[in-house]
Amino acid sequence: MKRDPVRAIFDLKQFGEFGDVNPSITDSATYTFLQAKTMTDVFHGEQEGCFLYSRHWNPSNKYLADAMAALDGTEQGWVTASGMSAITAAIMQICNSGDHIVSSMTTYGGTFAFLSNYAPKFNIKTTFVDITDLESVRKAIRPETRLIYSESMTNPMLQISDIQALAAIANEHGIKLVVDNTFTPLIIQPAKLGAHVVVYSMTKFINGKNDCVAGAICGTNDFINSLIDVNSGTAMLLGPVLDPLRSSSILKNLHTLHIRMQQHSRNALYLANKMKEAGLKVSYPGLPDHKGHELMKQLMNPDFGFGGMLAIDLQTSERAARFMELLEMHDVGYLAVSLGYFKTLFSNSGRSTSSEVPKEIQDEMGLSEGLVRFSVGLDHDIEAIWQRIRHCLDMMV
Ligand SMILES: *Cc1c(COP(=O)(O)O)cnc(C)c1O
Repeated sequence: MKRDPVRAIFDLKQFGEFGDVNPSITDSATYTFLQAKTMTDVFHGEQEGCFLYSRHWNPSNKYLADAMAALDGTEQGWVTASGMSAITAAIMQICNSGDHIVSSMTTYGGTFAFLSNYAPKFNIKTTFVDITDLESVRKAIRPETRLIYSESMTNPMLQISDIQALAAIANEHGIKLVVDNTFTPLIIQPAKLGAHVVVYSMTKFINGKNDCVAGAICGTNDFINSLIDVNSGTAMLLGPVLDPLRSSSILKNLHTLHIRMQQHSRNALYLANKMKEAGLKVSYPGLPDHKGHELMKQLMNPDFGFGGMLAIDLQTSERAARFMELLEMHDVGYLAVSLGYFKTLFSNSGRSTSSEVPKEIQDEMGLSEGLVRFSVGLDHDIEAIWQRIRHCLDMMV
């Protein structure tokens, strides 16, 4: 029987302390004990089900972390104050000074900046490769390589990572595959395909409301426990803990993720087809002419479609700017970074979320300065939205 990630979340029995259908929010930084010995045992990790201090664990965060682990089918999860803190904590937990990383060249701009500018401060070097070229991934691996890093669907090029093949390469070398699954929750389950660690910006589709910034890390018990080890855990010691009030609101939003992903995907596929018919240069993994289309079909859970992200190439940043202003003026959505919102958002990647990536690398990854990335919203009447977009296109000539 197919493992259904939605049912795995649904089946969690998470009640509040008075039978509340939503788990109670634990609005406390610290926890009291009646016996001093219990506190000592908790400190040494020998006492299950007790909480000590909220930077380590908070019950509300545990509910959300358990739901994220259920979503990805991993043993455990941990939630963080941002996607970047999930990514950086996972990487810094795995790598020591002198280690090396092989990363996809196309990644979220913040991740690229961290790997290329920040990690070298700790003598951790990264080789950036075209992640769809498995031979170049293999060639980049050195004796000191500790991890391969990629995104299931890369930002902003929407390439599809062959997670199974990358996991096989990682396993051959006894190193870890870390995958950012922010663009494709439910659609792709990286851990089921062999990824050792899965990271998320929950700011995006998982929460879906654009009212907060948050992240998650999913992996084995060993890995998560090492992250929160009081003596040596990166998450414990750098301390990017999520506020429990926020985690409780994200948990409620997570329960509607499956319906939202279906609608995001349906709308994005509709717009991608229309844009293509209109002669635009469209990149959407759901279109048969997309390079990663066949691979995505192998990896994906078909119930949730090809996702809500698409990109069009308008050649120049001036044309991109004019088009986005027209779209905003004609109520297609908002000119804004970020994604996974109920309204359509669009931005010019080269001048915004990928502006950390130097121009030469943007060229190397094929990122056109006129690329407009869309996070397609939950619009009920997408045909009407297409008419508005069409109208804006007519005004471009
Ligand atoms: C937004 C994003 C991040 C960073 O997450 P924050 O929550 O903004 O810290 C990382 N990876 C991807 C793919 C993203 O879209």
